[in-house]
Amino acid sequence: MTIPFNKPYMTGKELWNIAQAHANGHLAGDGRFTKLCDGWLEQRTGAHKALLTHSCTAALEMTALLANLQPGDEVIMPSYTFVSTANAFVLRGAVPVFVDIRPDTLNIDETLIEAAITGRTRAIVAVHYAGVGCEMDAILAIAARHGLLVIEDAAQAMMASYKGRPLGSIGDLGTLSFHETKNIISGEGGALLVNAERFAEQAEIIREKGTNRSQFFRGQVDKYTWVDLGSSYLPGEIIAAFLWAQMEEAERITRQRLTLWETYHQWFAEAEGSGKLRRPVIPRHCSHNAHMYYLLLPDLAQRTAFMERLEAAGIHTVFHYVPLHSSPAGQRLGRAHGDMQVTVSVSERLVRMPLWLGLESHQAEVIQQALAALG
Ligand SMILES: *Cc1c(COP(=O)(O)O)cnc(C)c1O
Repeated sequence: MTIPFNKPYMTGKELWNIAQAHANGHLAGDGRFTKLCDGWLEQRTGAHKALLTHSCTAALEMTALLANLQPGDEVIMPSYTFVSTANAFVLRGAVPVFVDIRPDTLNIDETLIEAAITGRTRAIVAVHYAGVGCEMDAILAIAARHGLLVIEDAAQAMMASYKGRPLGSIGDLGTLSFHETKNIISGEGGALLVNAERFAEQAEIIREKGTNRSQFFRGQVDKYTWVDLGSSYLPGEIIAAFLWAQMEEAERITRQRLTLWETYHQWFAEAEGSGKLRRPVIPRHCSHNAHMYYLLLPDLAQRTAFMERLEAAGIHTVFHYVPLHSSPAGQRLGRAHGDMQVTVSVSERLVRMPLWLGLESHQAEVIQQALAALG
């Protein structure tokens, strides 16, 4: 039997909700299920406004529009992240400026941010890797000193928090992903969290193709028209109906993932003690969501051998990311500030273990094979 790296979890209520959306006859966006999801997100995160989008990528593009970036403006971000973190800003003509990550959480190293700021810097993007919070207090303080926006790429961070504050709700804007590889899913899907109230009206306009349609439906204006830049970032009700089933189970899904995560963590403690690997680090002030269980092996050769051994045993593991600063597009469209030593090293040594609801009955075998592969 092959044990996959990921298997999308379904609660069993998704199709029932979709049937209801179908029966309601409202299939475009902003129907009953979209409102339930937006309301749940606002209540959970405390965001001033939550808006469902097609993806986290779409939500990031909205933040780039809201930031009113001009060609040549700079946005500081980690290089160790998914391409959308950078692409969204490059689409507006901005330049991603990559800084290195912390060796413990693999999040942007906040002590390197200030030196990367220039007269063109407009925003800092904090990516909460593996659902573990960046050092937000330090990042907010830097942004305040230099008049910069703080955008949280919380794609991996639904249900996680930093000093009790939900991730995605701390910066001016935050983005979430409901892609099937994340914890709470709708296939493709995402949300924009508008925390700074001044962006709320424009965010609605951007999402509705640059029109004031949302205000029109609330009776605030008597006709709707093109008022600003925008695009179609609004998912249909079928997606929202699916997502609502997941949101209702979000607490339980997170708890079950945390149990799987803890099991890995305990079993790999001894191997860490004998220097064969390094386990994830969760700072005391962060509460994570078990988005990912990764191991850091000593070097590239050992990671390759480890993954091949597991593959031969029918256990699929994956690694990521090709650092953005060294990718073909990243070299052309962005620039690195500093030597990126940690980023490069981690990208060669990190391996992600299978983590999905239903793995419970196979996890012992995965762990046993992994420990054997470590030698
Ligand atoms: C998954 C992910 C994204 C993209 O999310 P989509 O919903 O697939 O667009 C962006 N940033 C990070 C850090 C991610 O992990």
